[in-house]
Amino acid sequence: KKPTKSAAKAEKPPRRTVTLTHPDRVYWPDEGITKEGLADYYVEVWRFIAPYITGRPLALLRCPDGIDGSQKFFQKNVWKGMNAHIQSVDDPATKATEELIAIRDLDGLMGLVQSAALEIHPWGSTVADWEHPDTIIMDLDPGDGVAWQAVIDAAFEVKSRLEVAGLVPFVKTSGGKGLHVCAPLKPKTNWPAVKAFTKGLADAMAADEPDRYVSTITKSKRKGKILIDYLRNQRGATAVAPYSTRARPGAAVSMPLSWDELGPDIGPAHFTLANAPARLATLDTDPWSNFRKSARVLKG
Ligand code: ATP
Ligand code: MN
Ligand code: MN
Repeated sequence: KKPTKSAAKAEKPPRRTVTLTHPDRVYWPDEGITKEGLADYYVEVWRFIAPYITGRPLALLRCPDGIDGSQKFFQKNVWKGMNAHIQSVDDPATKATEELIAIRDLDGLMGLVQSAALEIHPWGSTVADWEHPDTIIMDLDPGDGVAWQAVIDAAFEVKSRLEVAGLVPFVKTSGGKGLHVCAPLKPKTNWPAVKAFTKGLADAMAADEPDRYVSTITKSKRKGKILIDYLRNQRGATAVAPYSTRARPGAAVSMPLSWDELGPDIGPAHFTLANAPARLATLDTDPWSNFRKSARVLKG
């Protein structure tokens, strides 16, 4: 019996149409991952990553010579000779001549790969509604000497505080050192109100358990503690996208998890470009499949 049209469509990865120049250029030398390997990864995870990186301003960590190369720069604006599949978008709040970067489809993502964007960092709002974020992200940054279990405890503490506010929290590895707790919002509340809410949450955690948590960036105060970094939640700030690769040794990716997966076996850089596609292929249900459906209004 032939599979139904929609089932076949769901299983077949999309076709890549953008031509890569120098597909053999090595981006992660220790793992031998090339530009073409990065393109193949993003084709495989396209249906998972698409909702988080299309239709919103993006900042890119570009590394034309790979993660160990001398050129590594954070790019927020369009550039001369930018790949034609990447869009330029105009921030309505600025009269800036410099336009921002966005993509709408897989070709756009391949344009990013072609441009050596080894990390993709979206805004928390979309180009359809710049002023009202649709995602909160609490970035948990462990200082030196913090045990992994303490980072997990912090994530659950953030989870319960977001739930008290009526939101539905989700968790992902950062692909670096920490965890990110995210909550989808209905885009009704403006940036200043969302920032104030997240600052309040971080400050309350630091006030209630000052031995464990800090909410200010001051590095000297962070040793042995976890910074509850709420500053991803302001207009123009970015955080790494779910499923994005990291320009760090090991080719880790930021991986969405279910809350009951959190534990000693899955560290912050456990999932990588190499093992993520197999996880996603065998997963019964994507732990973030209800992400957008779970959006709530944050009472400002
Ligand atoms: P980790 O788990 O290691 O903390 P992370 O992605 O959370 O990983 P952070 O250093 O906590 O890393 O977050 C820094 C955030 O600031 C990034 O997610 C990114 O969006 C943003 N950022 C990084 N580099 C720059 C830069 N050069 N200019 C502006 N913003 C940046
Ligand atoms: Mn972090
Ligand atoms: Mn941070």
